[in-house]
Amino acid sequence: MKYAVGIDIGGTKTALGLVTSDGQVLSKASLTTDLSLAPSDMVDKIAEAAHRLLSESSLQQTDLQGIGLGAPGPLNTKLGQIAEPPNLRSWWNFPVVESFKRHFQVPIVLENDATAAALAEKWMGAAKSADHFVYITISTGIGAGIYSHGRLITGATGNAGDIGHMVVDPSGGDCPCGQRGCFEHIASGTAIAREASSLLQRPVTSKEVFELALSGQNTEMKQLVDRVFGNIGVGCATLINTFDPELLVIGGGVSQVGEPLFEAVGAYIKRNALNPSGRNTPVVPAALQQEAGLIGAAALIHTKY
Ligand code: ADP
Ligand code: ZN
Repeated sequence: MKYAVGIDIGGTKTALGLVTSDGQVLSKASLTTDLSLAPSDMVDKIAEAAHRLLSESSLQQTDLQGIGLGAPGPLNTKLGQIAEPPNLRSWWNFPVVESFKRHFQVPIVLENDATAAALAEKWMGAAKSADHFVYITISTGIGAGIYSHGRLITGATGNAGDIGHMVVDPSGGDCPCGQRGCFEHIASGTAIAREASSLLQRPVTSKEVFELALSGQNTEMKQLVDRVFGNIGVGCATLINTFDPELLVIGGGVSQVGEPLFEAVGAYIKRNALNPSGRNTPVVPAALQQEAGLIGAAALIHTKY
């Protein structure tokens, strides 16, 4: 049996797992990403947790094929560095691969977290038999991993698929990135909660917005949700027109709303994708959800991508 450690570094938490080459998660752990710590101190804590996973399974570093790291973009996989992720400010320009090398003498690979999650869905999830698919995560932000012709499309520096900053509706307000109406500025969980809180004049979560809208209790929330689903449809139609995938996989917290989202996106695509076969692109939920990040990070070691 071959082993890898997959580490999914996030703005709020870092998940890691010991994963076999047939995709079994033998053990896992989760740490709060403490942004008040220097990133190298946080890496020390993560490395310590990884060593613990190994010893709990009576394994040693020499049993590892490698360590896969998934991290939010923008990053620079060529340099092994975090670049400028908005939710990981204290990590800007941090050489994360080099920092982990202080603790492990095995190959260490870094990719964008959504790209890694897409690879997880290909390896063990909803896209096993697809050679061409796009994985979209709609959560705090929006990101994608693109798999085409049997390979991940990572781009020159690992930033391909950052669809959160594809402009979907220029009238949709100022995105912190400097553009207007970016996909994640108008359709992420954060965006839904922000817009609803402003309409209702009280703090609301995106989950509550869906409950109010879909139970028919609040027409204002229903209109908001319809607009968001429409915008997700626009984003998906653009991805279909750009990559001609055979499948779209949607994950992330917002996708938990389930059927209403998938139905609305499917209907939008049916009307608006340009090529006739693209109009019938299946849109399915991610199979791995919470574990996609760490399984995908381990897949960076266990699979050829
Ligand atoms: P992260 O962005 O840290 O990866 P998640 O994928 O859980 O975390 O996404 C969090 C976002 O998803 C939040 O905006 C949250 O409000 C939203 N969310 C989580 N669960 C649900 C749900 N069941 N229905 C709708 N929105 C949800
Ligand atoms: Zn933007």
